[in-house]
Amino acid sequence: MAEVIDGKSVAEDVVSKVKALTAELSAKGATKPGLAVVIVGEDPASQVYVASKSRTAKDCGFHSLQHTLPADTTEEQLLKIIGDLNADQSIHGILVQLPLPGHIDAGKVIQTIAPEKDVDGFHFINVGKLGTGELDTAFVPCTPAGSMLLIERVRGKDLSGLNAVVVGRSNIVGKPMANLLLAANCTVTIAHSRTRDLPALARTADILVAAVGRPEMVKGDWVKPGATVIDVGINRIPAPEKGEGKSRLVGDVAYAEAAKLAGAITPVPGGVGPMTIAMLMANTVASAYLAAGLKRPSF
Ligand code: NAP
Repeated sequence: MAEVIDGKSVAEDVVSKVKALTAELSAKGATKPGLAVVIVGEDPASQVYVASKSRTAKDCGFHSLQHTLPADTTEEQLLKIIGDLNADQSIHGILVQLPLPGHIDAGKVIQTIAPEKDVDGFHFINVGKLGTGELDTAFVPCTPAGSMLLIERVRGKDLSGLNAVVVGRSNIVGKPMANLLLAANCTVTIAHSRTRDLPALARTADILVAAVGRPEMVKGDWVKPGATVIDVGINRIPAPEKGEGKSRLVGDVAYAEAAKLAGAITPVPGGVGPMTIAMLMANTVASAYLAAGLKRPSF
């Protein structure tokens, strides 16, 4: 059976390091890390994510600010708030929770965030830095950055000679994940909904990352024996066995089957999920170090 990669424990390590770095920053007399989270509208899932991000920021010793705006907030009002946060020296990270209501151009909003405060890593400047291998100064999107830390725990930092297959080509997960693996010297293939014979391609992967959003799509016989399998998917499916109307979370990988062949695998929940918020904290403390003219800490 595969080694189970404990994302919860790695995320706790990251948060502990963030706390220590925050204390060090205060000891040096620098401004403590500040994270502003902006949410527009009442989407319940987004409310839960935002509350959790703000809570973790406080727990890390950050200055934590939350703007909760009504669904009818105009684009102009939102852009004004972002402009103010860009100018606020006590804020080092700005996160706008997606999705935004339909009348607001999310792309425009993201590109308005100052790149040096773009701790989600979605600004073109940060996307370009990752694409050109400027990893020392880039902010990398949190989910792929966290997935990469989990891969490093199993395989080390240099992945020379390994084949990686990333299933999914979103800007938030698939593409940045592929760039990180490439920067670590993997030979990378990105697969998507138009890829032919995905099972055969997946079987070539020493590192297989699934970021698709389809419950348990990646089957056991897609997994090369000994492969490292990273399941980014979070899907809620009905679970009548738990009682009427009950549900449970599954990933994009058929875990029980895949774990028989994989060398190491992330569970869902408890794998990549906890890493996302931890890496948001890591990016924010890094931003505060850079703003203070100090060397960027690594994780
Ligand atoms: P997305 O934007 O919907 O992208 C999904 C990708 O999967 C697309 O590139 C799509 O291909 C591809 N795809 C869809 N059906 C496919 C199929 N049958 N065969 C091969 N490829 C297929 O999703 P995302 O934002 O990247 O998220 C992916 C999953 O990760 C979701 O379950 C999401 O909930 C989860 N997620 C988790 C975290 C976390 O914190 N753990 C964070 C973000 C996302 P095309 O481009 O060809 O359409």
